[in-house]
Amino acid sequence: MADRYDVIVIGAGPAGYHAAIRAAQLGLKTACIDKSLDSEGNPVFGGTCLNWGCIPSKALLDISHKYADAERKFPAFGIKTGKLAVDVAKVMKHKSDVVKKLTQGVAGLFKGNGVDGLPGVGRLLAGRKVEYTPHDASATVLEAEHVILAPGSEAVSIDPTPLTEGLIVDSTGALEFDAVPKRLGVIGAGVIGLELGSVWNRFGSEVIVLEALEEFLPMADQRIARDAKKLFEAQGLDIRLGTRVIGSSIKGQTVTVQYQDKEGEKSIAVDKLIVAVGRRPYTKGLLAPDSGVNLDERGFLFVNDLCATDAHQVYGIGDAVRGPMLAHKGMEEGIMVAERIAGQKPMVNYECVPSVIYTHPEVAWVGKTEQELKRDGEQFNVGQFAFSANGRALAAGDGDGLVKIIADADSDRILGVHVLGPQASELVAQAVIAMEFDASAEDLGLTMFAHPTLSEAVHEAALGVAGHAIHMVNRKKKT
Ligand code: FAD
Ligand code: AMP
Repeated sequence: MADRYDVIVIGAGPAGYHAAIRAAQLGLKTACIDKSLDSEGNPVFGGTCLNWGCIPSKALLDISHKYADAERKFPAFGIKTGKLAVDVAKVMKHKSDVVKKLTQGVAGLFKGNGVDGLPGVGRLLAGRKVEYTPHDASATVLEAEHVILAPGSEAVSIDPTPLTEGLIVDSTGALEFDAVPKRLGVIGAGVIGLELGSVWNRFGSEVIVLEALEEFLPMADQRIARDAKKLFEAQGLDIRLGTRVIGSSIKGQTVTVQYQDKEGEKSIAVDKLIVAVGRRPYTKGLLAPDSGVNLDERGFLFVNDLCATDAHQVYGIGDAVRGPMLAHKGMEEGIMVAERIAGQKPMVNYECVPSVIYTHPEVAWVGKTEQELKRDGEQFNVGQFAFSANGRALAAGDGDGLVKIIADADSDRILGVHVLGPQASELVAQAVIAMEFDASAEDLGLTMFAHPTLSEAVHEAALGVAGHAIHMVNRKKKT
């Protein structure tokens, strides 16, 4: 550890560690401070994403998906399995092994790139001084030319359902169950609620999702949201919209949840309750009163389009600043800030941030939804293609969902791409690339896609914008 750095990053989640590694690659003397400890008390880098978010949740989603396929689909494919059972301890071991490999990978990348990874707490003082308190020693003050704040976010809790060890849990607790709950309640039908509800539903839990809003996935294209809800319900998720949770009580190992819907007050009894009502920026203890950094009215670090805070040469990135709370959004901000510090001029294109819900089928989109465009009075054309007409999807027994492409009526420029289907998270990347290059639907239509692939559904939807998809009868016929 040195006393003076070109760059000090506080927070080694995806935003912070990308910033630190890129800064070091560019020849800047860089340190990255992070206070996270794993369940055994060892310092870990990687933040929420690697330890308690994206990665462990996807490990459980991927394993539970294989289990659900074996149980629900294999018989129809002629594969006989005998009676299936899940060993939750082994599932959790797989998850923990993946997390360990990746968090150790970040530590290795720090070493390999010359970043000083500093376990402990960082606090920004005035004049780009950073108070660093290691876990096992007293505080020292480091100085930096530039400071990047990447402290991330934390789960929101609500008064009616205070977290209670092993019974009422947040997303972190829901990644640690030691047995499959018989009845599971989930508050919040957002991305995290649906993903975690799906995991335990696939392993056999009866899952009830309570969502205050009347609309399902309001941020997604509503055609996609409608179809997704039907598919999730068919899988067994009991999604109750317009239900606001107002209280809870615990007797023995049972949680009773009170909620209000149109008809009045009701309750359900469950073995476990997951509270997944959103996340908020985490800035506790981060800023000395005279740090010069301000928060906005919702508690986010206040930054401009280039992630600069109100303090000179201090930046904010990731979940703790405005914009979607997504790992890849923070990663791009981290790289942008590091490169700008080094004198380059990149920008983050906030118009092209893909969103994904890793259910099955997955939901993924980029750009504008049809309802947003209608609200803004924009003129557009839509091309849609169902996976039920895609040979590869049918071959895999995965014919649910569709691709929907929305293009500007005059220029044909792609404005939004929405996918409900197998590997939607991968398919949407094609749309992001196309939109980054300002492609038209015709450009995608003129591109050759390998056959047979799921990607052909993207191709066909693009052709459908002009009314000449091949494997469906086009509603509007064009030459
Ligand atoms: P974080 O990852 O939260 O990291 C911040 C780090 O800073 C933490 O380690 C924290 O301890 C540390 N820190 C904070 N303050 C200090 C301080 N003062 N001193 C030292 N260290 C400090 N996003 C996706 O894009 N895809 C997904 O599939 C996805 N799945 C998710 C699933 C779940 C269950 C959850 C909870 C989140 C998921 N997310 C997903 C969101 C994703 O995890 C976050 O967007 C991402 O982790 C934010 O990155 P970050 O670097 O801003 O902050
Ligand atoms: P997200 O912010 O995408 O993670 O989604 C969280 C969801 O939780 C939102 O759709 C909220 O409407 C929902 N929510 C918040 N509070 C409650 C509550 N008391 N009862 C039911 N749903 C809630």
